[in-house]
Amino acid sequence: MDDPFDAIDRGRRIDRQQALWLLSGAPLGRLMEAAHRVRESRHGDRLVTFVFDTNPNYTNVCRTGCTFCAFCRSPEADDAYTLTPEELAARVSKAHAEGATTVLLQGGHNPGIGLADWIDYIRAVRKACPAVHIHPFSPAEYVFMARKEGIGLEQLLKAIWDEGIRTIPGGGAEILTERVRRRIAPAKASVEQWLDACRVAHRIGFRTTATMMFGHVEEDEDIVDHLFVLRELQDETGGFTSFIPWSFKPGSTALARQVKTPAHPARYVRIIALARLVLDNFEHIQSSWFSENIAAGQLGLLAGADDFGGILVEENVLKQTGHSPRTTVEKVKTIIRRAGFTPARRDSDYRIVEVFDPPEPPGCRLKGPCAK
Ligand code: SF4
Repeated sequence: MDDPFDAIDRGRRIDRQQALWLLSGAPLGRLMEAAHRVRESRHGDRLVTFVFDTNPNYTNVCRTGCTFCAFCRSPEADDAYTLTPEELAARVSKAHAEGATTVLLQGGHNPGIGLADWIDYIRAVRKACPAVHIHPFSPAEYVFMARKEGIGLEQLLKAIWDEGIRTIPGGGAEILTERVRRRIAPAKASVEQWLDACRVAHRIGFRTTATMMFGHVEEDEDIVDHLFVLRELQDETGGFTSFIPWSFKPGSTALARQVKTPAHPARYVRIIALARLVLDNFEHIQSSWFSENIAAGQLGLLAGADDFGGILVEENVLKQTGHSPRTTVEKVKTIIRRAGFTPARRDSDYRIVEVFDPPEPPGCRLKGPCAK
């Protein structure tokens, strides 16, 4: 095997064997440094972006039965819910009043909800909050809905495009190998179906993110395979905006008892650095205060990540596992600054909306390095 760090220095692509060594054996400091240099060459070393978003989760009804999920409920459960379009719009309005500019629409695979309901949700949110960017439904939900409606992915995605939607969150990817999916999400979109939903969306013109949930039954090879199928699809379509990893939160889920490769902050940082090096065709890599903890999120920013994710005014899925940290824009700005970067607010298409330069020290009128 050629030294992967040499390959990176020469601008050559990392292969699977090299990626596996970077994940399992490379010195972490060296890996972080190499990833940070790649980040610097793409984005400089000044700005870290974040988005002010909310994720109200329109329904928790789902029969798909993923073993890692603490959120889903059967339709008969006492605490099963499905928001009406008006209720969803009211929640988005509340988050918008607090400053949110983007809403993720994500929910369970609810057999009682059809495409017409999705469109009602989009229209109700747009009517209530025309300035809020709507970022709706994961590839796994599109696969479910296409099957439910008996239509192709292209017809379904075009109907959503016709509603003016232009970006889609890349949720439901978990680990993109069939070996792992059979164990944790056997009834959910397969690897090919998840990728195909992204492929069709990109062909229509949507830009999507791509996610990964690690820290359960996967092997290192599964993580490497996940990154390589994303890289291959990105070579084909160019439609991914960013890669967003997070770790499995066991809570009281069925999967909690089977965990083989528990996540920890050093693993999270290593995966972020590896992603920056393997996903050489992805513009953005996300490290997040929400996924692990603030310190791990900050370290991720020193390991190749250029984005700090969302503020998440509302989130209900991980909350059910007991993971429900809260933050504010001011706190996120401080966290980013303390990691040595300048915070910048972005939209869901990664366009920078506002840069929060450091305040001038009292009595100083100069701009520039001395103001830091
Ligand atoms: S992760 Fe999504 S699809 Fe899987 S059981 Fe939970 S709500 Fe349903």
